[in-house]
Amino acid sequence: MIEMGEPAWRGPQLAEAIYRQRLPDLTEITTLPKSLRQKLALEGWQVGRPQIAQVFRSVDGTERYLVQCQDGVTVETVWMPEGDDGEAGDGSDVDDADGGLKERAGKSWHRATICVSSQVGCAVNCQFCLTAKLGLQRNLTAGEIAGQVVSVLDRHGVEVGRDRVNLVFMGMGEPFLNYDNFMGAVTLLVREVELSPQRMTVSTSGIVPGIERFAQEPAELRPKLAISLNAPNDQIREKLMPINRKWPIEAVMDAVRGVKLRSRERITFEYVLLGGVTDQPQHALQVARLVRRTGLPAKVNLIAWNPGPGIAYSMPKPEAVEAFRDALVDQGIPAYLRNPRGRDIYAACGQLKRTVEG
Ligand code: SAH
Ligand code: SF4
Repeated sequence: MIEMGEPAWRGPQLAEAIYRQRLPDLTEITTLPKSLRQKLALEGWQVGRPQIAQVFRSVDGTERYLVQCQDGVTVETVWMPEGDDGEAGDGSDVDDADGGLKERAGKSWHRATICVSSQVGCAVNCQFCLTAKLGLQRNLTAGEIAGQVVSVLDRHGVEVGRDRVNLVFMGMGEPFLNYDNFMGAVTLLVREVELSPQRMTVSTSGIVPGIERFAQEPAELRPKLAISLNAPNDQIREKLMPINRKWPIEAVMDAVRGVKLRSRERITFEYVLLGGVTDQPQHALQVARLVRRTGLPAKVNLIAWNPGPGIAYSMPKPEAVEAFRDALVDQGIPAYLRNPRGRDIYAACGQLKRTVEG
């Protein structure tokens, strides 16, 4: 706005229209004079919010979207009303500080989690992950990352500040390999959309320089941190996650120790259970030891592997999943099972884009 010779306060006015009022088109921003809207349009400016191009609705209420950016590429964004069982979807404990928010007329949910993508595809190449099969197509911009959230909030008529919404940056891509755009999006979501960073969780496969930068972010902009551990030791982890050769478990843990946690905040370790590969009783004991050794306040989120075409792993048996959780809990490590959501709509990580677009 300043570059266009407009007063500086036009900037916040525009942000208010795009991020708070969620207006999808310049013509609707009536707080700006018509002449200015015309001038913006003539110069080629558009709101450019990514569009929900396709919707897949699961019997469990989960909605999965293919969201299309201006250049036509699509990413997946997911809406999970009520989060996970007994948890806030990001695996944080249910804290009903806001007094069990009353269900408002016409709304069938009172708490929801949105899962957001940070890249189109991913370069990290974890062997169990469908997104990896796409390779990295491109980074998303800060606007495209925040825009996914704005589009979903809009679709569900969410009233920020009243409705309880959690964000998890656990969609397609590795947020810490698109660091500036990821943090740019968080900044927009905190400052303009006015969502709390304490209701956001970013998951990383363990990009050490990214974790080190993240540790320097101010508390008012820093989401909670989740680390995709996924294996009980370096030997197994480097087979599943080649990135482990560059940054082994200990290097990741050292970097995580640099993050100054807020009161009651915990680090989440995500652990994908692969049948016969990472779900054995001795693995649970190793994970417990590993997590204890970090000395960090932590919890473990267990995710039964979601199968996908062309990936030669097996799902863990339900008994193995339960036994794994019990073993961790016995060892004094808080552990939660993340329920698979929307299996009927191919809602496993990265599945939708692959299924729809081939
Ligand atoms: N790239 C980041 C965030 C996106 S992946 C990361 O890896 O952490 C989010 C989570 O989904 C990770 O914990 C990852 O291990 C898990 N995941 C990937 N593919 C999966 C699958 N097929 N089934 C279950 N979890 C999967
Ligand atoms: Fe990328 Fe995460 Fe999938 Fe690994 S698990 S390939 S880091 S999206």
